[in-house]
Amino acid sequence: MIILDGKKLNKSIAGDLREAISAFPSKPKLVIIQIGDNPASNIYIARKQQYAEEIGATAIVKKFDEAITEREIISEINSLNQSDDVNGIIVQLPIPKNLSISNIIDSIAPEKDVDGLSSKNIYKLIRNEESFVPATALGIGTLLRENGITVEGKNVVVIGRSLLVGKSTAFHLMNLGATVTICHSKTKNIIEHTRRADVIVVAVGKPGLINDDYISEKQVIVDVGINMVDGKVCGDTHIIDQSKLKAISPVPGGVGPMTVASLFQNLVTAYQMQEKQNKV
Ligand code: NAP
Repeated sequence: MIILDGKKLNKSIAGDLREAISAFPSKPKLVIIQIGDNPASNIYIARKQQYAEEIGATAIVKKFDEAITEREIISEINSLNQSDDVNGIIVQLPIPKNLSISNIIDSIAPEKDVDGLSSKNIYKLIRNEESFVPATALGIGTLLRENGITVEGKNVVVIGRSLLVGKSTAFHLMNLGATVTICHSKTKNIIEHTRRADVIVVAVGKPGLINDDYISEKQVIVDVGINMVDGKVCGDTHIIDQSKLKAISPVPGGVGPMTVASLFQNLVTAYQMQEKQNKV
């Protein structure tokens, strides 16, 4: 049984990115927009900044009060779009409910949208054109590939249909040749879908949702969920007999570190594309 070790792969990707960046004339720069003071967001942002430092990139945080208006945020993003020394812009989610995620994300220039969540980049993902694949989806694809697991021709069941994770992962894996079923809160008998899957990706946010009853022999399980139970981080799976599986990603240490590494892969790609553009 393979443990899909995202922590180890995160380190090896950091080495590759550091080497690539060392040959660049300047440091790739990411701007993270944070609205409000969500404690989980503070942790995720700190991880991104730490990774940036590790690879020789820059990640700065622009933190705004919850009272900021949509117009003010969009105007801030517009000036970052114009700034030549900014290569990537992301908005740390969640944001306050009175603000429109799509209006704000769509104001990011597509070539700087390294989270790949703007309408233009999502449309490209759906059309299977070159785009910034959202970091978690990209990370899942890399985690599988680097562990020798191909999805081409396989039955993949994705549980969860958020744009951020479920849908973008479903499209990314479909683009890689998988046959994908998406399950969600309205799906009846999820068990019937999961049991016949080759690969199960679970991105719900409910601890222990997928247990031994849901699985069958030689399956690959990618657990995206991040939950806190009794002060400990755990995923959406609770499988006692893991021996029959082909592979499983742990929580923590599976998809989480891959999301961070993939974001910075996108940033480096954005930097290279912008450099090329500037030379033309
Ligand atoms: P989300 O926006 O809340 O979406 C959750 C999805 O799960 C929804 O599509 C919902 O269905 C579905 N769902 C809820 N209850 C269900 C049930 N009982 N059976 C089947 N489906 C059910 O969450 P998200 O942003 O996609 O994140 C999902 C999880 O991944 C969270 O734990 C989050 O913390 C974690 N996450 C991890 C990473 C990472 O890097 N590891 C990155 C992002 C998110 P409906 O659409 O029908 O409501």
